[in-house]
Amino acid sequence: ATPTALLVGTGRGAQLGILIKGPEVLESTRAVDTIVLDKTGTVTEGKMTLIDVIPALGENRDEALSFAAALEHASEHPIAKAITASFRALPAGLETGKTNTAALPARPEAGKANTTSLPVRPETGETNATSPPAEISKANTTSVPARPQTGEANATSLPAEVGKAIATSLPAPRKPIDAEPSRATTPRALPSPEGFANLEGLGVRGVVDGRAVLVGRPELVGSLPPELEVAVADAQAAGRTAVAVGWDGKARAVITVADTVKPTSAEAVSNLRALGLTPILLTGDNQAAAREVAAEVGINQEDVIADVLPADKVDAVKRLQAEGRVVAMVGDGVNDAAALAQADLGLAMGTGTDAAIQAADLTLVRGDLRVAADAIRLARRTLRVIK
Ligand code: ADP
Ligand code: MG
Repeated sequence: ATPTALLVGTGRGAQLGILIKGPEVLESTRAVDTIVLDKTGTVTEGKMTLIDVIPALGENRDEALSFAAALEHASEHPIAKAITASFRALPAGLETGKTNTAALPARPEAGKANTTSLPVRPETGETNATSPPAEISKANTTSVPARPQTGEANATSLPAEVGKAIATSLPAPRKPIDAEPSRATTPRALPSPEGFANLEGLGVRGVVDGRAVLVGRPELVGSLPPELEVAVADAQAAGRTAVAVGWDGKARAVITVADTVKPTSAEAVSNLRALGLTPILLTGDNQAAAREVAAEVGINQEDVIADVLPADKVDAVKRLQAEGRVVAMVGDGVNDAAALAQADLGLAMGTGTDAAIQAADLTLVRGDLRVAADAIRLARRTLRVIK
């Protein structure tokens, strides 16, 4: 939380979990007529679940997941968390022998990464880094929990040509994968990336096992082969987010993830409308996924602004202000900070990043979007009482 933040109104405000920067904030609520809502983490849970890994022809699904996870475990993004959690939940050793075509030569590097560069996993204090491979696989057989999806454990023994079929039918990992206890018992380790760079709103970049790896928006990774283009289009049509994985200048796989709308978001949107505000959805995610979420919570399709780069979120707010609107914005991410500061009234989710909280005028401590409407209603009522 920000040091300048103060809890206004020991009564109602505190009860509601509203943190206000200063009394002058109240004034900003008066004329607000438009409320811009960030999608991921604000309207949705911001907890992504891995749905599928689709390798390009000739690529290995688990190798692609390994490279992606190795890079993403340096990132805090919800997509990154979904990828690393799924990787860790798989039994170790899966990354060998699952190439889509038998024609490709085995990569000598494939298994090496697991034995030479195992990091100590801070969350469990494991010391696999020094363990010889034999010990690692032994540990795996004893402590890897059975994957909830039946049949997945057999994946390594299936012929290569079945790999693609498996990839397209990989079910979403269930909740236990995210839970602490199961994470503590999954010993699958990740090599640490070198030269890691977070390309805000685009993806991540770094060197894993000597390869320059990219994970992120498909256009970041470059031109995709047709089978991956199809995978991206299918995922987006289903309202999902698709990221591409590439290394050495070539796109290798598409990873699809899904988020869920918070159960309170639709009510929150209707409460905001009741205050006379027009809700607008703003996101760096793709149009189709954004429209799906908008429909679910009751935001008009023409009020969806998608595919927005972090630097452009602030411009989206400026454009609305240029139309003569008085704009409130609710967000949670580092990528929302500038837009929150630009808005006439910035509201941060208390469950979000410090950057967002510091840029905002007001924090919704519990991260409940319904409180945005409560806060504005309370502020307006307080103003009426003061004046
Ligand atoms: P939002 O505006 O919904 O909070 P972001 O601006 O954080 O979304 O991300 C926009 C897009 O950038 C994502 O949908 C994804 O395609 C890509 N992206 C950002 N960070 C990552 C990452 N760590 N790994 C993969 N893709 C990423
Ligand atoms: Mg967000």
